[in-house]
Amino acid sequence: MLMEHTIAPDAVDFIDDELLTRLARQGEDKARVREVIAKSLEKKALSLEETAALLAAESPELIEEIFAAARRLKRDVYGNRIVLFAPLYIGNYCVNDCKYCGFRRSLRSTVRRTLNDEELVREIIELENLGHKRLILVYGEHPNYSPEFIAHTVEIAYSTKSGPGEIRRVNINAAPLSVEGFKTVKKAGIGTYQIFQETYHRKTYAVYHPEGTDKADYFWRLNAMDRALQAGCDDVGLGVLFGLYDWKYEVLALIAHSLHLQRQFNVGPHTISFPRIQPANGLALEDLPYRVTDAQFKRLVAILRLAVPYTGLIMTARESKAVRDDVIEFGVSQIDAGTRLEIGSYQEKDKQGQQLNREQFQVGDPRELDEVIRWLAEREYVPSFCTSCYRKGRTGEHFMEFAIPGFIHNFCTPNALLTFSEYLNDYASPQTKAVGEALVKKEMQRYQNEKIKPQLITRLEQVNKGEHDLYF
Ligand code: SAM
Ligand code: SF4
Repeated sequence: MLMEHTIAPDAVDFIDDELLTRLARQGEDKARVREVIAKSLEKKALSLEETAALLAAESPELIEEIFAAARRLKRDVYGNRIVLFAPLYIGNYCVNDCKYCGFRRSLRSTVRRTLNDEELVREIIELENLGHKRLILVYGEHPNYSPEFIAHTVEIAYSTKSGPGEIRRVNINAAPLSVEGFKTVKKAGIGTYQIFQETYHRKTYAVYHPEGTDKADYFWRLNAMDRALQAGCDDVGLGVLFGLYDWKYEVLALIAHSLHLQRQFNVGPHTISFPRIQPANGLALEDLPYRVTDAQFKRLVAILRLAVPYTGLIMTARESKAVRDDVIEFGVSQIDAGTRLEIGSYQEKDKQGQQLNREQFQVGDPRELDEVIRWLAEREYVPSFCTSCYRKGRTGEHFMEFAIPGFIHNFCTPNALLTFSEYLNDYASPQTKAVGEALVKKEMQRYQNEKIKPQLITRLEQVNKGEHDLYF
């Protein structure tokens, strides 16, 4: 069932296959790697050629230098906060047949479902009662999931409240829309529009997305962010499904995409995600020739950190706790927590474990939000539910202007401490509350900003007396 969209004669192709292939295969040049690391530490975005130099580094000592630089850049640009969110699957009907996905149409064993309004409200209340403030709504690709339907679900998410609980930012991961469609979802107040190209390599793309399906149209997807930005959605999130093709090529393509957006719209992507392919209903991972090892995964995250210093990096719960533990310090700024993928599963808690015929893929880190928060706090990362930039209009191009040295420390760190304290008061287990409060105290001792500190102290006192939603 093909949906109506123009297979754009005006499609923009910014993926130069020959160039990316050549760059992805080049050999190591030690001096060049060190030059590029030095440039990245000045918080300058890297070119394709510079990113390729980092990708070519194979000697252990150079890789260690890249890791050290990524750690440092994360500290300087993002501070030690980690933004938390939850995915909420709205429906898994799908007209496509992506070979890696548990929702693909040819899988007869997949149980199909779309949340109705009442079920959606119950899911949101469950998430709010756990302490979530930021959601990403996820949809299969189907005529039922029209822009109007998506907008309706976004509106429900914003308007559903439970006690002190509310959702303050709703992002979406949905099939590519037309400019008009993007305007409709923008009007409903979406934060980030996220979509993954899956693979930027055209031949591989054709293998995984069979002809005759909507998703087979590589350019309709490749140009989705251009249409979103034209429609006024100024936070867009890119991604690759790692494991379909050569990881070095895909990292370069993500950079090519970022540079294209920067050139055309004067704004880079708000976030980049790097999901690795996971077991799914009807998917045998052994058949994948390009599976990314943990060691390669670590390198690709660190290199992305250095290449796009002001773009948020999202590591999803596809990764295990062990991998998340290891990789988080290389520049990750957002993670999902307490993740459940089965449609309706936040409210239907009695079900034990994952049932792959009801879900898109297997989750690697099934820990509850409270446990993830405690883990972060024990590692001295400040969990943040901040949604301030979006609500103060600091998005897209404006966000880039603000992403200057000092901005993050002046706004993001205080907002992280305020939203974290709110969480600790309203939702944390006693154990998490104790660890969290000790961290807030320590952070306040470290926090040196003459102008903001007194205001922050006052606001923290207000939060501890029961006030909500205070931010800079
Ligand atoms: N249906 C829309 C689409 O394809 O863009 C939106 C959401 S889809 C449910 C979200 C993402 O999940 C896909 O873009 C894909 O990268 C990822 N995904 C699909 N199958 C996966 C698997 N087996 N393991 C890990 N991620 C997977
Ligand atoms: Fe459908 Fe998205 Fe899964 Fe492809 S990845 S089958 S479009 S839900």
